[in-house]
Amino acid sequence: MSYSSELSRRLRKKPPTTAGCHIPEPQGPDFKVVVPPHPQKYPNHQGSKGSVFGGICNRTACDRLHAEFYNRGTYGYYCAEDAIGINRYSVKTPLCIEVDHDLTHEEMDAHYRRMMEDMR
Ligand SMILES: [Zn+2]
Repeated sequence: MSYSSELSRRLRKKPPTTAGCHIPEPQGPDFKVVVPPHPQKYPNHQGSKGSVFGGICNRTACDRLHAEFYNRGTYGYYCAEDAIGINRYSVKTPLCIEVDHDLTHEEMDAHYRRMMEDMR
């Protein structure tokens, strides 16, 4: 038996690879998205990141949980540490506000309008 036919025989006997199987990238705990992300939400993360009250913080470099602050500028939820950090730059009209539930898009729009009014 030639080397090449021996090689092809071995390759045929190889177990099927996992190519084609979808392996989702790890995202930590997954949260059920109650309200789909607002069209204006930034950034547009995969999964539930920043889109669930009490879920994963919206800041790209942060994976803390308990995102219970809503950012009226990015339409995302943030952990307390980042919300306080962001608000340091927006003292007069805080960008991040503490909320207690998943906001509807109507509530998000209302928060945005109120913030714009406060800034005038
Ligand atoms: Zn954070």
